Amino acid sequence: MSGNRSNWADTLIHLFALASRLEGEGQYNLAKLTRAAADSLCRRETHPLDIPSDTNKLTAEVQKAIEALSHLNVNADLLSAMKQGAEFMAQGKLSPITATPHPYVCRGCGYATLVPPAKPCPTCGAFAETFQKFMPNYWFDALQPEAAWERLRQTPLVVEKLIAGLSDEAMNQSPSDGGWAIRNTLSHLRDAQGVLDFRVDLFLKEAHPILESKAVFAWAKNESERPPSPRDIFETYRASRAETLRKLESFAPSDWERVGEHEEFGTVTLRQQVSYFAAHESTHLSQIEAQAVHWRSERR
Ligand SMILES: [Zn+2]
Repeated sequence: MSGNRSNWADTLIHLFALASRLEGEGQYNLAKLTRAAADSLCRRETHPLDIPSDTNKLTAEVQKAIEALSHLNVNADLLSAMKQGAEFMAQGKLSPITATPHPYVCRGCGYATLVPPAKPCPTCGAFAETFQKFMPNYWFDALQPEAAWERLRQTPLVVEKLIAGLSDEAMNQSPSDGGWAIRNTLSHLRDAQGVLDFRVDLFLKEAHPILESKAVFAWAKNESERPPSPRDIFETYRASRAETLRKLESFAPSDWERVGEHEEFGTVTLRQQVSYFAAHESTHLSQIEAQAVHWRSERR
């Protein structure tokens, strides 16, 4: 880090305070730049930090954060939910929405709550509608139906190009850092596509369907019921995708607003689910690309 830690923290806090003031004065464009600068500063510092991915170590990291936050007077319900979430993780499970609800933070004073606010902020009087709701990720509302459909159509084409000419052997080989082989990422895309297709049917068949929480990420290295060749895994992904695209094409605008109850994420619309899966896929493309570049350079 350039400069010392307290200078850096002072700058960050100043940026947030400044952004709030600028918004209060109607200077939204200047405020957005200030918030982006603050976010950039934080992400730049966190990017090189190597938090372990091992579940036990990760649980210990969450406990360490809870301990630090408990001395900083952070909302007790929020910390208790973090603790419960860590317990689910330690058991190899995803935490359900009932244990880890979406939090809301007052944009005025920072008051935090796990209950959707219905009354003004008890600390500063800000209106309930002005609280910031924290969703589990940005994918839910990343893409509107037309853009989501187009992304779902495009991604298999991108993947096809990325793996063109690679041997099965190269695609089956795990990288030295213990990450995913191309085969694992293809399996993951296929698995996620299977969940999407299943849910699209469910939204059509049932009013307010229950959407079971699926640890799709954990299946990527599970080899049961996999076609032997990575290219066959890709082909099943592509065929299933084409089927889903056909179904989605037949939907009326009102169908996209059908709601379901997701065990992990709470009430979600079909539109949000489709956006979620379409945006999620893009986050895995760099994994395939890095491996493809590696194996092509090995071949030379
Ligand atoms: Zn407040």
